[in-house]
Amino acid sequence: MKLDEIIITEAIIETFTRKFRDYLSSDVAIAGGGPAGLSAAYYLAKAKKKVVLFERRLSIGGGMWGGGMMLNSIVVCSEGKKILDEFGIRNREYKKGYYVADATEAVTTLASEAVRAGAQIFNLMSVEDVEMRKDRVTGFVLNWSSVEWAKLHVDPMTVRARFIVDATGHGCEVASIIQRKLGTRLKTRTGGIVGEGPMWAERGEKAIVRNTKEFYPGAYVAGMAANALFGGPRMGPIFGGMLLSGKKVAQLIAERI
Ligand SMILES: Cc1cc2nc3c(=O)[nH]c(=O)nc-3n(C[C@H](O)[C@H](O)[C@H](O)COP(=O)(O)OP(=O)(O)OC[C@H]3O[C@@H](n4cnc5c(N)ncnc54)[C@H](O)[C@@H]3O)c2cc1C
Repeated sequence: MKLDEIIITEAIIETFTRKFRDYLSSDVAIAGGGPAGLSAAYYLAKAKKKVVLFERRLSIGGGMWGGGMMLNSIVVCSEGKKILDEFGIRNREYKKGYYVADATEAVTTLASEAVRAGAQIFNLMSVEDVEMRKDRVTGFVLNWSSVEWAKLHVDPMTVRARFIVDATGHGCEVASIIQRKLGTRLKTRTGGIVGEGPMWAERGEKAIVRNTKEFYPGAYVAGMAANALFGGPRMGPIFGGMLLSGKKVAQLIAERI
């Protein structure tokens, strides 16, 4: 068969444009494709919500690829194991209550199941601002990550959603933007970003689920960003809390749509 480069180019441009246009408005837009964002996308899609996820980097998976210190095994507790099992991620009990899985199997399966459930992922796009109407977040302002990295003077574009999720990890970038623009009006004990505490795995895992909630009208937080925003401890390379946090944020939002 003869191949025509122009048809290949047309195929990419047309399908991408259609896809992006379809997601200019969604039920939920998620910033960050780490384990928390992917888990949230999966459960929202399973609940038949229209969900889109934007990831800054070329690859989704956030910090999960590297396990702990680049040793690519991950550890979860019993609650986290239930989620691994639900996704079909193979795992084994290491010691009572500690389950291990291969990091690459975990990331690739989370991503694939989220997409197959109906979530749409756009990589290489960064959330650089939020859209607001009155006192509510109504969307994300996006740019290509390459524009951000090259510091090019190029205007962003906007997508709209009924709810947005900050799943950007330690930086809680969306909450930072809102705080920077609006001052200390977030639903935290200080009204601003409290900042994450030192390592305490057991407490961190519990706190992250507790801290998964709405932090500004229309805006939820999940994953490591939740502990950074509300002041929970960091918890090292144990990932069950991230997955449970993604599931919780999906449930909270699905109840409101
Ligand atoms: C230096 C470092 C230290 C860490 N130490 C710990 C630790 O002690 N304890 C711990 O639990 N975890 C730690 N982590 C993170 C660890 O990988 C997490 O456990 C886990 O990956 C967090 O999951 P998450 O989904 O919340 O966020 P992440 O896995 O961090 O994923 C967030 C994703 O959001 C993307 N993103 C960020 N900002 C934007 C934006 N504006 N627009 C679009 N995408 C965006 C990122 O590229 C990333 O893929 C560390 C990570 C780093 C980099």
